Amino acid sequence: MKLDVIQLTKDIVSISSVSHQSNATVSDLLEETLKKCEFEVERLQFIDQSGESKVSLVAKKGEGKGGFGLFSHSDTVPGDEWAWDAFSPAIEDDRLIGRGSCDMKGPLAATIVAGASVNSSQLGKPLFIVITADEEISGMGARQVAEESVLFNSFRPAHGVIAEPTQLTPVYAHKGGARIVVTAYGRSAHTSTDQGISANFLIAPFLAEMVEVAELCKTDKSFMNHEFDPPTNGFNMILDDGGCKPNVTAAKTVCTLGFRPMPDDRSQDVIAMVTEKAEKYNFEVTSSQGQPFYISPETEIVQTGLKATGISKPSTVPFGTDAFSFQDSLQLVVLGPGNIEQAHTVGEYIEISQLFEAVKVYQQMIEILCM
Ligand SMILES: [Zn+2]
Repeated sequence: MKLDVIQLTKDIVSISSVSHQSNATVSDLLEETLKKCEFEVERLQFIDQSGESKVSLVAKKGEGKGGFGLFSHSDTVPGDEWAWDAFSPAIEDDRLIGRGSCDMKGPLAATIVAGASVNSSQLGKPLFIVITADEEISGMGARQVAEESVLFNSFRPAHGVIAEPTQLTPVYAHKGGARIVVTAYGRSAHTSTDQGISANFLIAPFLAEMVEVAELCKTDKSFMNHEFDPPTNGFNMILDDGGCKPNVTAAKTVCTLGFRPMPDDRSQDVIAMVTEKAEKYNFEVTSSQGQPFYISPETEIVQTGLKATGISKPSTVPFGTDAFSFQDSLQLVVLGPGNIEQAHTVGEYIEISQLFEAVKVYQQMIEILCM
């Protein structure tokens, strides 16, 4: 079946699926489109913290096990700051403009158009299209697919593409995301009483130590990985004292530290160092870490990506994807149309030529890995 990648992108951009809302409506359209193109579709659902229904789709075409999967997400960041309707797609020259056009409804449309163009009778191994919910906020959709999907787990694709925008350069590694939350408790009182204990003063010496950690991450080579640009982990800190007034002492100050772990860096040491310093002051401390993604550039999937794009050398990127949830199950490469610099911006667009090129690249990978 022949689908138009521009029309499909416009259709799904015009159905808002900002992560804090339900993505059920756009998922209905995607499910219906996939079914029309001979895909068997499994719908996975969960209710998020705000009570919104979230849907991920796993679609399969062709018999047998193994094969190849194309992975996308259907949620987007909000479009509130746009001076015009972010969900009314427009075309200007080579650009399709609209929230999610680049990250990543355009790339998603390209995966479906490529998948629609082959008949199941041509496939020696199955072809999968996986579309997750909540990639932009929690990664919950991907985790649910990896853990619960019957199609994904019973027929398990051997190779996959995460279709996030890389300007069609195969990407073999990306950074992860780590967060450490340190909380100091004081006592709130009006300063006229002098009975208060400011959590801000309590946490100040710890903050001075974080300046040193930040400096260490920025200058000590053992905390870097030079396969990435930049090679540093972006160690950052934000503070929240609940908007305390100057005449009141802060009851609680929360210091959130974030950085981007890379393969073979010293992320665990950073977490251990910060935790130890926080505990020294008896502060409450919790940490969580989204792992980086890494696959050897020599693997079949990366080599297939290079062959299909005609590019000689794979690359790395500093942003995260759903790859983390799937990388234990199959060989993955991140490879999609569009420039990530467009993601999350006002006036987000994708180049139409990139969309057409992506369809060709995915068709070629399907041919190599499934036929
Ligand atoms: Zn994305």
